[in-house]
Amino acid sequence: MHTDLVAALDIGGTKIAGALVDGHGRIQARAQCLTPAREDGETIMRAVEQVLAELTASPLWGRATALGIGSAGPVDATTGTVSPVNVPGWRDFPLVARVRAAVGGLPVELIGDGVAITAAEHWQGAARGHDNALCMVVSTGVGGGLVLNGRLHPGPTGNAGHIGHISVDLDGDLCPCGARGCVERIASGPNIARRAIENGWQAGPDGDGSAAAVAAAARSGDPVAIASFKRAAQALAAGIAATATLVEIDIAVIGGGVGKAGDVLFAPLRKALGDYATLSFVQRLAVEPAQMGTDAGLVGAAAAALARRADPAAARV
Ligand SMILES: [Zn+2]
Repeated sequence: MHTDLVAALDIGGTKIAGALVDGHGRIQARAQCLTPAREDGETIMRAVEQVLAELTASPLWGRATALGIGSAGPVDATTGTVSPVNVPGWRDFPLVARVRAAVGGLPVELIGDGVAITAAEHWQGAARGHDNALCMVVSTGVGGGLVLNGRLHPGPTGNAGHIGHISVDLDGDLCPCGARGCVERIASGPNIARRAIENGWQAGPDGDGSAAAVAAAARSGDPVAIASFKRAAQALAAGIAATATLVEIDIAVIGGGVGKAGDVLFAPLRKALGDYATLSFVQRLAVEPAQMGTDAGLVGAAAAALARRADPAAARV
């Protein structure tokens, strides 16, 4: 792979991170600020421009040949716009044009954050060497992305693989997206904690009522905590099995805060997959924890920029 640098932006509801990344996925320079997520669109864009200004001040900047953006979604790569659910000041915000203007016209590639972490896991992490993979982030929400036939599959608008909003419970609870019984409505961290609390689980003396605290309780044998993780695992397994049956993935990679729960999640998940992934061609489906850490979004955005540089005809904006 070409060893020159690409620039990357990872834009979420909490932070805006930027980096210069080399052809081996190593970060050579970085900048970061908090996302002023409750402010108006221009204020948020100024935060992005501040991160870009730090990057362009780097002595390495001159070697950057493209820029990749992984953004909280929905994104629309056909128009270069973003409308992140948790950043209300941006609706159809022309992020690609604004970033391109801020970096002197470099080619810019936009993908959703779930697609970005998938690109990172496929390039450097747990999905490396797998031609057909589903990668998921299970944390405050549930996102994901697909690798098909050895290539990242962002879909026309950059959102493909959004497994969190596949319904696995037809008459289930209403999801903020408008549908019912979505994977996210059952398996996200806040929903794991909510279900445990509704069923009588109580946070410890420190008052921590998070999914991580429920995971700790499950590890020490609390039956309500175990049951809440089991239910989340079932929802994830049903979504993963549906995906595998549709497009024949051979591995599902799970990251995010809930993905760090370890056996509390993965043991019931692998068991539930046996109940839902039943046809011969999906029975050998592997489920593995993600390997990329907090830089997955940046590394994945860089991977998308590199792929675009290698194949400019595939550029979508
Ligand atoms: Zn939904």
